[in-house]
Amino acid sequence: MERRYQGIAASPGITIGTAYLVGSPEVQVCKYRILETEINKELDRWQAAIDATRREIESIKRRVAQEVGFKEAEIFNAYLHVLEDPLLVKAVGEQIRRQRCNVEYILQEIASDLVRRFTEAKNEYLRERASDINDVVSRLLRSLTGQSKRLLAGAEQDIIMVAKDLAPAQTASMRRERVVGFATDIGGKTSHAAIMARSLEIPAVVGLKNITDMVETGDALIVDGSAGMVIVKADAKVLTQYRQAQQKNLQASRKLRKLKGITAVSRDGYRLNVAANIELPEDVRKARKYGAEGVGLFRTEFLYLNRRDLPSEDEQFEAYRQVARQSLPYSTIIRTMDLGGDKFLSRLGTSAETNPFLGLRAIRLSLAYVELFKTQLRAILRASHFGKIKIMFPLISDVEELRQAKAVLNEIRQELRRRRIAFDKHMETGVMIELPSAALTADVLAREADFFSIGTNDLIQYTVAADRINEKVAYLYNPLHPAILRLIKRIIEAGHNERIWVGMCGEMAADPHLTALLFGMGLDEFSTEPSFIPQIKKVIREIFLARSRELAEEVLACATTKEIENCLQAQIPDKEGNHEKEVN
Ligand code: PEP
Ligand code: MG
Repeated sequence: MERRYQGIAASPGITIGTAYLVGSPEVQVCKYRILETEINKELDRWQAAIDATRREIESIKRRVAQEVGFKEAEIFNAYLHVLEDPLLVKAVGEQIRRQRCNVEYILQEIASDLVRRFTEAKNEYLRERASDINDVVSRLLRSLTGQSKRLLAGAEQDIIMVAKDLAPAQTASMRRERVVGFATDIGGKTSHAAIMARSLEIPAVVGLKNITDMVETGDALIVDGSAGMVIVKADAKVLTQYRQAQQKNLQASRKLRKLKGITAVSRDGYRLNVAANIELPEDVRKARKYGAEGVGLFRTEFLYLNRRDLPSEDEQFEAYRQVARQSLPYSTIIRTMDLGGDKFLSRLGTSAETNPFLGLRAIRLSLAYVELFKTQLRAILRASHFGKIKIMFPLISDVEELRQAKAVLNEIRQELRRRRIAFDKHMETGVMIELPSAALTADVLAREADFFSIGTNDLIQYTVAADRINEKVAYLYNPLHPAILRLIKRIIEAGHNERIWVGMCGEMAADPHLTALLFGMGLDEFSTEPSFIPQIKKVIREIFLARSRELAEEVLACATTKEIENCLQAQIPDKEGNHEKEVN
């Protein structure tokens, strides 16, 4: 029987495939006793499973290293460590001897105890290890039972990952496997899983609440990432309709990609810069493919995640230099690390926080761990010699914080001068405006910044007090709340009054329905996930700035979100992307 579940549209497009439940005990394990004479045979099975799993992980690691990058491949070292951990390897052997039970059963018992202990650990690093253990144990069980492996190994199958949430370690390895979509219980439009799905260009629906209870590994699924819908075991007729829609989407996106070389100039001759948001250095290739005019946001914290050690100054320097060089003749905005919030760094040993999004995050963490910050600043400044780099600080809440960050930057400039190391003396310093406190003091900040970039993902969550990754309050998380639009207007005006340019790198900039409005409000640059770039440019080429300004005025005079939506509805492009009718 066909079943439908509504969640939050996280990454557009339609995909059809087979469900694969991540982290669930997809292998059915039964318990049986063995004879004393069978113990050695059972121990051999255990050793064989360890060897096979090690080979499997090493092979994935090699593939990820070749196709994604060495840093991402390092994630799998943590998995290999689990296979050597005596708490697992030795303990299973001992319990096979003591309990005289089959290895699968013993393994599952010991692993669930270990996972519980790690999950409850005070130390964040240990807590993160719980998911490594889960994944490795699933692989071991698959190897022991021969179950489910067939599913992922079946080259014909397109896999749709179904999970509570997807961690960076899981999404990094997905690039290579046949993953064509994903569906998760938790999350919102701007949660990590959603951003990663868009970056991987695979349709995704998040915030489905309990999809992991409703779907089993092997179920046929349709994920409609544009409508936020997941259909389980669709009827033949529905399946055909979705196949046709999928084909149409593919053709449309091929057509759009052809527009990559065009510039975003409105019909009355005003030019807008459209840049790319990237997470990893290799994303620059994709940015170029879609016609990005530079990098508007390089989320550098991804260099710090999924690894045991911290990235060295040289490693960071190489990454920044690579991005800056490849982006030429355009510029690259490097955002200093935005760790904390939902992107933890276990190596720092920071204690757990009750409200991490209101805690030691981004620039606050950088200023608290100033040596870490200095290492990054050194790397950025050194790389600035090789391209057009601009630096940007995240989560600035007032001008004093900006001054502190700039003082550290100046200290590093002086140090490099003393050491006669070349850097760009004119590198611009920008501020991400993503807190209401920053938006309301944007006039003050603008006097001491070279540019602003509006981070609506955070600005919305902090303004309407709705966690960006909590699907239960996603209905409150609306970029069209009048408060958000007023703040944006205020930020743009404050910037322009001080003659600095103002861009937007939050997800709001990627919504083509809002392009005319934001253009009319005066934004100078949009920065989005690369695949959205052609669509944004296309919209700009179809509209007039003068009319967009009027639209912005009308919208800003509205009292409610509903009124704003109605106002915009009148100019939303039809399926073919025609705006002319209303916006001329
Ligand atoms: C934002 O907050 O809008 C933003 C672009 O930063 P991030 O999504 O990385 O928090
Ligand atoms: Mg942010």
